[in-house]
Amino acid sequence: MKEVYKNYMMEQLRKLISIDSPTGFTNNVQEYLCQELTRLGYAPQRLHKGGVRAELGGEGNGLMLFAHCDTLGAVISAIKDDGRLTVSKVGGLNPNNVETEHVRVYTRFSGSYEGTFQVPNASSHVNAHVNDARNFEENLEIVLDEDVRSADDVKALGIDRGDFVAVEPRFTVTSKGYIKSRFLDDKASASVLLTYAKYLKDEGITPSRRVVIGFTVYEEVGHGAACGVPEGICDVLAVDMGCVGEGLGCTEQMVSICAKDSGGPYNYDMTTELVRAARESGVDYAVDIYNFYGSDVEVALKAGYDVRHALIGPGVYASHGYERSHEKGLANTFDLLCAYIG
Ligand SMILES: [Zn+2]
Repeated sequence: MKEVYKNYMMEQLRKLISIDSPTGFTNNVQEYLCQELTRLGYAPQRLHKGGVRAELGGEGNGLMLFAHCDTLGAVISAIKDDGRLTVSKVGGLNPNNVETEHVRVYTRFSGSYEGTFQVPNASSHVNAHVNDARNFEENLEIVLDEDVRSADDVKALGIDRGDFVAVEPRFTVTSKGYIKSRFLDDKASASVLLTYAKYLKDEGITPSRRVVIGFTVYEEVGHGAACGVPEGICDVLAVDMGCVGEGLGCTEQMVSICAKDSGGPYNYDMTTELVRAARESGVDYAVDIYNFYGSDVEVALKAGYDVRHALIGPGVYASHGYERSHEKGLANTFDLLCAYIG
């Protein structure tokens, strides 16, 4: 991967992560994707349900690449008498991971407010039970950084039930190329797809087959790619996070090719083609099985599309927590896409 594309990829990752986009609150990230794809010279379309797609060129044997740009988050479920907010999580938000984290509350009509996830009565010098066992829905609450002492004070700010809560991602890149942030699932792969689109334009390459990229916005709640696969697509490839953990072959520096996950085996032939492309091009990869994972392309099959399906992505550790990947993992994912599509 050329330096210019690696730099672009990391810049796009930083930008995408900086745009709060919990599932259900994704207009801003969709607008950004449309702007960027237009700037690159493409004609992106937005789906009615949400999501962005763009034709990258090529003819016949249509291949659609999916990444998702929605993330975990929460919505306000109630305003307590003392002015604290309780939440209902969106997607698999992990309470241990977000306790004490900064949040932004987005109201429908009155802008946004800052706050922090805390357990109730969170001062150790006041509450001897502050470290007792916790349950997300029952215990975590948002302490707004506003002078509010009652539910009426909070309502006067324009905050209501159903307002979205975005968690601070804490994006950073270390001196050794490790990327640490929430929501690398799946903004890491979204930045890889944008980089692939830029690469085709800059190098004047027409792909060997028709290629469409799709950015879905309901993946974390399970119906991202239930629509939006255009006529003529025969293969769908989810470019989503690869799993890293005990018993798996993938590291953060590799691209993972998933053979089977909770939704069953991926298409045998398409997966074999991906493994062959990785082997022949010298991409650093691992084939793995994911025990607790479902993907957008399985959703496309369940929706009734007659397509082959497969899943690849950069290795991500501590998924749905404070995640870690590596520049090389993203670069290997990019290189595999180039090798596979030709
Ligand atoms: Zn994902």
